[in-house]
Amino acid sequence: MALRAPEGTRDFLPDEQRFWTHFKRTAASIFGRYGYQPIETPLFEQTDLFVRGIGEATDVVSKEMFTAISGENLKTLLDGGSIKAKSRLSLRPEGTAGVVRAVVQHDLVPQGAAPAKLMYAGPMFRAERPQKGRQRQFNQVGIECLGAEEPTVDAEGIIMLMRFYEAIGIPRANMRLLLNSMGCAQCRPAYRDGVKAYMDEHADGLCDECRRRSETNPLRAFDCKNPDCAAVMDGAPKIADYLCDDCRSHYDAVKRYVELAGLSFEEDPRLVRGLDYYTRTVFEVQVVEGMGSQNAIGGGGRYDKLAEEVGGRPTPGFGFALGYERCLLALQAAGMEFPGRPPCDVFVACVDDAVRETGFRIVQAARDVGLTAELDHQHRSLKSQFKLADKLNAVLVLVLGPDELEAGVVTVRNMQTHHERTVELKALRSLMERFLGASSDAGATGKLFD
Ligand code: AMP
Repeated sequence: MALRAPEGTRDFLPDEQRFWTHFKRTAASIFGRYGYQPIETPLFEQTDLFVRGIGEATDVVSKEMFTAISGENLKTLLDGGSIKAKSRLSLRPEGTAGVVRAVVQHDLVPQGAAPAKLMYAGPMFRAERPQKGRQRQFNQVGIECLGAEEPTVDAEGIIMLMRFYEAIGIPRANMRLLLNSMGCAQCRPAYRDGVKAYMDEHADGLCDECRRRSETNPLRAFDCKNPDCAAVMDGAPKIADYLCDDCRSHYDAVKRYVELAGLSFEEDPRLVRGLDYYTRTVFEVQVVEGMGSQNAIGGGGRYDKLAEEVGGRPTPGFGFALGYERCLLALQAAGMEFPGRPPCDVFVACVDDAVRETGFRIVQAARDVGLTAELDHQHRSLKSQFKLADKLNAVLVLVLGPDELEAGVVTVRNMQTHHERTVELKALRSLMERFLGASSDAGATGKLFD
């Protein structure tokens, strides 16, 4: 049987690959206006970074990480040996921990410096049960801002994310922005205890996993997909009743700034998000219609303690990640199709093999000038070369036959207007240069050859 891509992974064929490039460029252009600079970190890191950063009791770390083992270490393990902590590696399940590690490692926020604003795009890996909108390898575009705890950072991040979604084509009316505050090291412990006490009282209505969570990490129970647990957790204490004064005023300011940008949002006291590192602001963006249960297209929040968790000095941070595949589903549900292949500027059709060398030279010259150019590699008939030119969406076809070669000319056919003219071979290069100059203006390009 022919091999297929592993479950939960997908190939990006050329049409999609072009769209993914456009998607990343749009994000880079919008986030760049807010001062975000690109960064790329490794696809795998020491497992310990994720354990310390994301939290051992989270689903992402406890169940969903792919461990990366070199052949040599695998042998050691199979032989019953153990490997060093620094050789325990995992594929990144998210981008924040790696970026924060890089910020600490390279001291990108020296004391007193302006915040480091960084953005990334690339694959993440989670061993989840694949379903529509949930993959084992998926792509995120994300940002991290380290070095400032001001609510303007949070608001700016949320605003630019919403601007991006609109720019890529998701209508504002089809999105829901959910906001919450998770409190801080001062106020969250009391909240956590309150939730735990409530869960213990209602243990009968909770699944085994949530009963365990009440011991390890009670707030995770808000994320449980079991409808019975969701019903129980609906009645759980609300963080809003526990926030300390500083967290409350930070949260109020974030909301005010978001409103200043004309965005509406819903407060969701049950929004805790799946990762342990969040403090204060958390938010999520959902698509209202057309996506089913996997409707979260992005989210993030503030993580003022994460840099310390990975061994750095105290450095407040804020970030978000948006899921490319989920955005794509939202766009496709709204009728979007991938843009087609861009036109081929020049197709050189050779009437017979005797003219192939000249044809080969012309096509090469066209590419050297900067045009997209193709010729047939399969000895097709002239008719099927024209068919191929059509398929490649060629703008011009240069027909070269023995008579043309003899006379030092080539026939140039404009495929849109079907006009033909004869051009001297020696004038071809300057013509192609003019064509290139005009090709940013489709009308002008056509006229040039009429
Ligand atoms: P998270 O880091 O879990 O907050 O994820 C941020 C965004 O990435 C989510 O809102 C989703 O859009 C996307 N995402 C997370 N997990 C997956 C997955 N397994 N497959 C596809 N997209 C995902």
